Amino acid sequence: MMKKLQGIAVSPGIAIGEAMVLSNEGFRIPKRFVLRDATESEIKRLKSAIADASEELAANRDSMTKELGRKYGDIFEAHLQILNDSKLYGEFVELIREKAYSAEYAVSVTLRRYADVFRRLRNAWLTERINDIFDIEKRLLHLLLGKAREGLNQLTSEVLVLASGLTPSETANLNREFVRGFVTETGGPGGHTAIVAQALEIPAVVGVGSFLTDVSGGDIVIIDGDAGLIIIRPDEGTLEVYRHKLERAHEIAVKLLELRDLEAVTMDGVTINLYGNIEFPSEAVHCLERGADGIGLYRTEFIYLSATSRGIPTEKDHFNAYKTVAKVMGDKVVTIRTFDLGADKLPQLPNPTDERNPALGLRSVRLSLKNTNLFRQQLRAILRASQYGKLRIMFPLIATLLELRQAKMLLADVREELYEEGVPCDPNIQVGMMVEVPAAVIMLDHFAKEVDFLSIGTNDLIQYALAVDRSNLDVVDLYHSEDPAVLKLIRRTIEVADQHGKPVSLCGQMSSDPLFAMLLMGLGLRQFSVSPHTLPEIKQVIRSVTITECRKIAEKVMTFDNHREIRNYLRIKLLERVRGDDV
Ligand code: PEP
Ligand code: MG
Repeated sequence: MMKKLQGIAVSPGIAIGEAMVLSNEGFRIPKRFVLRDATESEIKRLKSAIADASEELAANRDSMTKELGRKYGDIFEAHLQILNDSKLYGEFVELIREKAYSAEYAVSVTLRRYADVFRRLRNAWLTERINDIFDIEKRLLHLLLGKAREGLNQLTSEVLVLASGLTPSETANLNREFVRGFVTETGGPGGHTAIVAQALEIPAVVGVGSFLTDVSGGDIVIIDGDAGLIIIRPDEGTLEVYRHKLERAHEIAVKLLELRDLEAVTMDGVTINLYGNIEFPSEAVHCLERGADGIGLYRTEFIYLSATSRGIPTEKDHFNAYKTVAKVMGDKVVTIRTFDLGADKLPQLPNPTDERNPALGLRSVRLSLKNTNLFRQQLRAILRASQYGKLRIMFPLIATLLELRQAKMLLADVREELYEEGVPCDPNIQVGMMVEVPAAVIMLDHFAKEVDFLSIGTNDLIQYALAVDRSNLDVVDLYHSEDPAVLKLIRRTIEVADQHGKPVSLCGQMSSDPLFAMLLMGLGLRQFSVSPHTLPEIKQVIRSVTITECRKIAEKVMTFDNHREIRNYLRIKLLERVRGDDV
């Protein structure tokens, strides 16, 4: 039966394909059907897997009972009884015989249906049994698939990944050739999972809530990254609708790409700098292909996250990545942000004793300033790579002037060290900071005197201004770019930057949303740094409006006292001005 579930749209686009369900261990069912004349041998395979699993379970039961007592042994006895239940076996066999399902698919579909029924009955005892059911599924799949089990980074064909949650390093290591989209039960709009999905330019939906019991590996699913939907086992009519949407999206993308070589200039002649945000060196090309003026944010923490299996990256790893990007971008600016990691995401570092509040803990530049060896290594690499292009350095999460000064001092020291070693680097490399902590906005008069440029990080600024964890699903409805308090912080940042003659861009997610483009220009923003795939769309808005009308829109917006009115108003304005056009 078709099932439609709503989550949070974090990366646009549509994907149709086979599900890979990553419950605990990431099993992938390679084929769902067998030939009609192979069903009996499929049943034999299943029988033998059940026999082997029973043997394993009996052995576990006996050793557990011996070592820890009967109570623990009974856990495995319960699994054994479920596994040998004749009704369950009858259902497996029926699916194989009647529908020509592969043994793996029959096992997965049946057990997940059981788990789903248990879940819906909302009985505490049954809810606990769901894990037992998954455990049995895992054991059988393991035996049936043998070596055919695939990990997320060793895929051999295209899949849509459905998971409970994905860690930043899992997402950073996804096989980019074969993962065509993903959906997670947990997660919020500002998390790194969302950022990676955009970097990979694949549709993604997060925060769907518990749904993995509804779906089996190999099921056909549709991910609608625009509406935040996942459709499991779509019927033919729905498939048709989505195939059509895919075609249409492709046509629009081709049309928007025609804007590539046109300037990002408003109808009244004001030029806007349009930069791209990247996480991986390979994305630099995507920025160029879409006509970006440079890179406004290179999130280098992904070098660390991708390297977790090999350990901490070396200076050479850093250098190679930065040199690649610098060379690809040529004379266009590349803004390298020093690493913005939380201690929880880099397990090799000593763990702080109490990190119950990671967003307020040892993350980002604070971590850099406490681990100066790591920080110096990265600064050396950036400076060394600066001879190959037009690099700039940007420090994240600066909250106090002392932090900024300390970071700049270290940079000066590293520059001196390289000079003494005779290593060439750009002596005038520009140094900037992210404005993403409200304290930085309040003190911006001072900061602006000590940096060459500023970049507003709304993803964090919203989180800290509104006290809403950007990746917590429970408070997602309180997280709004268009909150009037947030807009006042943005407006003030732009004003102060202008007063000091310092360029300011906005590189948070907000600048990638066409809904806000007119408002931001009206507030005086002249530099946008956006996800590469949104470059053409944002350029289209810029080219369709005048600064005069943007100012009027901003003025009106600043009279509203709540986000709802602001959003509604901006929606109407966007429709009137831009969406009424042909794209
Ligand atoms: C931001 O906070 O807006 C930002 C661009 O940085 P990140 O999302 O990497 O924290
Ligand atoms: Mg940030």
